[in-house]
Amino acid sequence: MQRLGRFAFSWRRPGALHREVIARVALDFAVRKEFDYVVPEEWADRVEVGRRVKVPFGHREVLGSVVALVTTSPHTNLRPISKVLGRQAAMSESVIGLARWMAEYYCCPFEVALKSVLPEAVRREEPGWRERLQVRVLPVSGPVPELTARQREILSVVEEWRELPLSELLRLAETTAETVRRLEDKGLVQIRSEVSERDPYGAEEILPTQELALNAGQEGALKEVAEAIGKVPAGGGGETAAGGVAAPVFLLHGVTGSGKTEVYLQAIGRALERGLGAIVLVPEIALTPQTVERFKARFHHGPQRTLVAVLHSHLSAGERHDEWHKIRDGRARIAIGARSAVFAPVEPLGLIVVDEEHEPSYKQEEAPRYHARDVAVMRGRREGAVVVLGSATPSMESYYNARRGKYRLLELPVRADEARMPVVRVVDMRTESRKAKGPPVFSHALHEAILQRLERREQVMLFLNRRGYSTSLQCPKCGYVAGCPNCSVALTYHRQRQRLCCHVCGHEEEAPKACPEAACRNPAIRYAGLGTERLEDALAGAFPQARIGRMDSDTLKRKEDYRRVLTAFRVGKIDILVGTQMIAKGLHFPNVTLVGIVHADLGLHLPDFRAGERTFQLLTQVAGRAGRGDVEGEVFVQAFTPYHPAIQFARQHDYVGFYEQEIEFREQLRYPPVARAALLTLRGRNEEKVRWCAEQVGRVVSEGLSDLGDLIVAGPAPAPLLKAETFYRYQVMLRTRTMARLTALWPSCRERFELPDDIRLTLDVDPVDLM
Ligand code: ADP
Ligand code: ZN
Repeated sequence: MQRLGRFAFSWRRPGALHREVIARVALDFAVRKEFDYVVPEEWADRVEVGRRVKVPFGHREVLGSVVALVTTSPHTNLRPISKVLGRQAAMSESVIGLARWMAEYYCCPFEVALKSVLPEAVRREEPGWRERLQVRVLPVSGPVPELTARQREILSVVEEWRELPLSELLRLAETTAETVRRLEDKGLVQIRSEVSERDPYGAEEILPTQELALNAGQEGALKEVAEAIGKVPAGGGGETAAGGVAAPVFLLHGVTGSGKTEVYLQAIGRALERGLGAIVLVPEIALTPQTVERFKARFHHGPQRTLVAVLHSHLSAGERHDEWHKIRDGRARIAIGARSAVFAPVEPLGLIVVDEEHEPSYKQEEAPRYHARDVAVMRGRREGAVVVLGSATPSMESYYNARRGKYRLLELPVRADEARMPVVRVVDMRTESRKAKGPPVFSHALHEAILQRLERREQVMLFLNRRGYSTSLQCPKCGYVAGCPNCSVALTYHRQRQRLCCHVCGHEEEAPKACPEAACRNPAIRYAGLGTERLEDALAGAFPQARIGRMDSDTLKRKEDYRRVLTAFRVGKIDILVGTQMIAKGLHFPNVTLVGIVHADLGLHLPDFRAGERTFQLLTQVAGRAGRGDVEGEVFVQAFTPYHPAIQFARQHDYVGFYEQEIEFREQLRYPPVARAALLTLRGRNEEKVRWCAEQVGRVVSEGLSDLGDLIVAGPAPAPLLKAETFYRYQVMLRTRTMARLTALWPSCRERFELPDDIRLTLDVDPVDLM
């Protein structure tokens, strides 16, 4: 039987007998249909499943991917493929199968799912990549193969130059890349990418690291993971592990600083020893040079000497193209990246690590609306690879799966360096407001604690998840609030730039000097609410001796900025670092002994069933930044609802306690993870029309999906953020325990209603963003 899931798959024509080969091609745009093309005889051995091709479509030529090779087609008069792209197949059969699963599960066209699998630069044979291909002569051993006169001409050009860029050769010899490739097939020349590849982190010196001696918890966790890796067949598991035992999924629950990364590193080491590659997923926001270095430092040097390739959205198209090819060619065996790295062409694959698996950014908010953690689990299952999900605060979904035996739970209950967990003090801001007139920025206790740290020359991190200066501009006289013309939110005042900005759509306008209402014109217009910019200001006023740095997406316009601020903080040039959630993740500074969470309940009262979970996670993660050195850390949590369970359980570092009370609430209301949810959103510019359509859709869906015995239809209701980017939005939330059945029924249900052209409908399976 064909070994599926391997790149080695290639179709050879049987002997001299000419049988037509037909390529089934998925085009790059969504037509929900695949098309058959004839493979010209001379390309029979180059056209394989996963190969990118150019094909005629109507009067145009379009790009697509070969998804199957067949010998008969239900259609007649097939046209031939016009061009075969790249040097090799871009996708394995297994990854194509993964895209098929995504299309079904997330209810999107197969083409859309397939598109997300390849980086744009790889998909469209990005202009420029050819130029960087070099052609050089190869020494010939044995008899020189027969050549046409044309081929001999071309070969003589290459011989004259010894080595030259392919583009140059094409120009000099007036030939095509296909012709040169035929010389390559005969073993006369070699085409390869330039040696001087772009390396996004290339200029840095990275000091090698050795494997650390593990503590008992780490040892136990690694043992189980390594055992599982030991059972992955050499050469990879192949599709669905070829009937073998599916590789397990582990949930590594380790408190902040427990040394999860060291477990990942050593597990990867075990996979490499067995000739298997690994993928490491990291949330976009945590994919910092510091994170990448930890992996490079271990593997660029170590006994296994392998390259680590990085895939993320801050790379240029060219860099992404090169990094991807490093993996595809097998020069890099470890791929580290954000969400889409789950599709990295690592072959054979032994291990997928999803770090901070609870992070919402693993969910893609446009079609295909996939969750990279869930895709990782599915890919692991299909390819027989071990999956390790790691977090200090696992998602309710993953812990639920672990409790039910779907995942294997591994726990690291103590910090690796034996540092104690920080002491968390919750400050009741209601009493603070009564003492001062109006809510203060810092409580008395936090103020004292900061002073103490400044005296001891220790560092402080202050966390506020709201950027800008003030969160709204209000007129105390007439009640005017500056709102976004496109969205139903107040504009945020950014003092540095003297502008009002919308954090939803990006709209900006000049900040008025007086109330803009014609009848009012009050010059005493007021800035209400606290943002990081104002916090920085308040700090400078209260602690004139301190050096203050700020980190949020306003201060980090360029990619070096991030690094610059962090380096300044690390070397002690900054005493107090203020930031948004950007500073909450994965950073490690031994001299930080105090962390302040300025407004802990900011996200607690959002109309989202995960508000408590998010707050718990955020507080725990932020608190984890404190006391990672020799000095015990202290955390101040300022809150107006200090007795909320999310805050109290975070204070006690009690994940399981939090989980147990939270799961009860989810069970009662049948919210995920107890049931699965899908969110229908209708949007349009006319609110009345959107609402009316939402009502019709809600009714049809309730009927169309009535076969699902346990279906709950909530809504239609206006989205919490009713208007965004000029569109009004209404939602219907569907909940059921059998999502696979819902998505299977969806297409026929969708056919039951027609929407006006100016109303758009999206279906988000397992939604993360409910706003
Ligand atoms: P986590 O990812 O679980 O938050 P880290 O992997 O960042 O934790 O580890 C925290 C710190 O502990 C790091 O500085 C790391 O080098 C160190 N560390 C990890 N494992 C060990 C070990 N076995 N012995 C000593 N130090 C360790
Ligand atoms: Zn807006």
